[in-house]
Amino acid sequence: MKILFAASEIYPLIKTGGLADVAGALPVALRKKGHDVKLIMPAYQGILEKVAPIQKSINLGNPFGVGDLLLLETHIPENDTPIWLLQCQALYEREDGPYVDKNGIDFEDNHIRFAALSWATATLALHGHLMNWQADILHLNDWQTGFAAAYLESWKVEHIPVVTTVHNLRYNGSFDMNQFSAMHLSPELLNMHGMEFYGRFSGLKAGLVYANAVTTVSPTYAKEILTPEYGDGLDGALRAMQDRLVGILNGVDYNQWSPEKDTLIPHNYDIDTLSQKQANKLALLQENGLSEDLNQPVFGVVSRLTEQKGLDLVLQVMPALLEKGARLVVLGSGDKYLESQYLELQNNYPNQVSVRIGYFEDYSHRLQAGIDALLIPSRFEPCGLTQLYALKYGTLPIVRQTGGLADTVFEDGERANGFVFKEASAKALQAAMERSIECFHDTNRWQEKQKNAMSYDYSWDAVTDQWISLYESLIN
Ligand code: ADP
Repeated sequence: MKILFAASEIYPLIKTGGLADVAGALPVALRKKGHDVKLIMPAYQGILEKVAPIQKSINLGNPFGVGDLLLLETHIPENDTPIWLLQCQALYEREDGPYVDKNGIDFEDNHIRFAALSWATATLALHGHLMNWQADILHLNDWQTGFAAAYLESWKVEHIPVVTTVHNLRYNGSFDMNQFSAMHLSPELLNMHGMEFYGRFSGLKAGLVYANAVTTVSPTYAKEILTPEYGDGLDGALRAMQDRLVGILNGVDYNQWSPEKDTLIPHNYDIDTLSQKQANKLALLQENGLSEDLNQPVFGVVSRLTEQKGLDLVLQVMPALLEKGARLVVLGSGDKYLESQYLELQNNYPNQVSVRIGYFEDYSHRLQAGIDALLIPSRFEPCGLTQLYALKYGTLPIVRQTGGLADTVFEDGERANGFVFKEASAKALQAAMERSIECFHDTNRWQEKQKNAMSYDYSWDAVTDQWISLYESLIN
């Protein structure tokens, strides 16, 4: 099968969260099974330095009046995956992140920036002869490429099947109606069964309603988003397309995330050499100038600091646990208030708390290897990747029972591999953390959980066949 895979971030070229990990790994897994996958993403500033030399380029014209859209053909050196980079200086050459400026504010022209990406994607899906490659299926991801489904609908043409994956329903890519004319989409799409969203227009809703199939990144999240509590205003639309909606769990790229071969951690280890995990713990504590007592647990956080992740709850419970000798190592960035609160906690407990604000891929590996337990008290969690990485490193996740966390972390039973709580409250989190401390001091029980955690296979290989079946069912 020929699969055109469109995303706004793809690891290792650019990453702000789980979408990049998925877009970087699923296509590689599909290619391994013999399928022909091509990626499309914007040529953000600095991207051209990370890819192989451009093999071919074509000019798609200037449909949005902001400059010519150039399509550059190349591949990702690390894994050879072919990629088309959409180049347009006015839209993508910016020093800041892919979506926001340095103050964390969304770029004002995001609707045009991702309309252009979506328009180019739809154009390629329809006119494969432009690049001598006709896709059989188009796979869109989140709102930034969801507009592609709207272009195909707007152009009233027959086209290849479209799959849209929702990585996070909270980001619906909705914009003010007075920006709609700049999109060059048919106004006929603006109705409640189309891409209209409470008086605005939404890229995510377009991706949902005009797709042949919709997927999300875990079975539990696929059910949760049908309810008003988790549906973010789209639950009605999702209920109407229930028969086209499935949840397929994300996988892990164990080439990047395995303690036995991770080149970014000080001491490699596996299920039989768990004592080396202690050496990573010591190294992490020393790196951060924290108390080096190995007989007490070290908790950790690697996360975007947002309301979604429930990390305000951690702030509430930490003082009581720190008084009992626990330590906390945090890596994250996002909400300025949360950042300042975490830094204040570090000031108050300099020997027990280390907080690093920013985005550091290498450090996230050392942290996962060095901590005992990873805190993920999310209010909602479509899939969550950090708990899957933690499991492989014998780091036990402490999670709220929601979305992909509920599908992968279990406190009891045969697969017990972490600690789970239900209510999104400080009290419930604290109780789970206290249970984890008790278990930590019962070495046999802790190691049993570690072994369960490390031995379960969450690789892409394990789920890629589900993707292939889905694509095939749509093509046939
Ligand atoms: P989300 O996509 O909601 O942010 P996921 O758990 O699915 O959450 O994916 C988060 C990804 O981003 C993981 O690969 C995690 O290691 C990484 N990550 C998050 N914050 C940071 C950070 N500050 N530094 C390095 N990596 C981070």
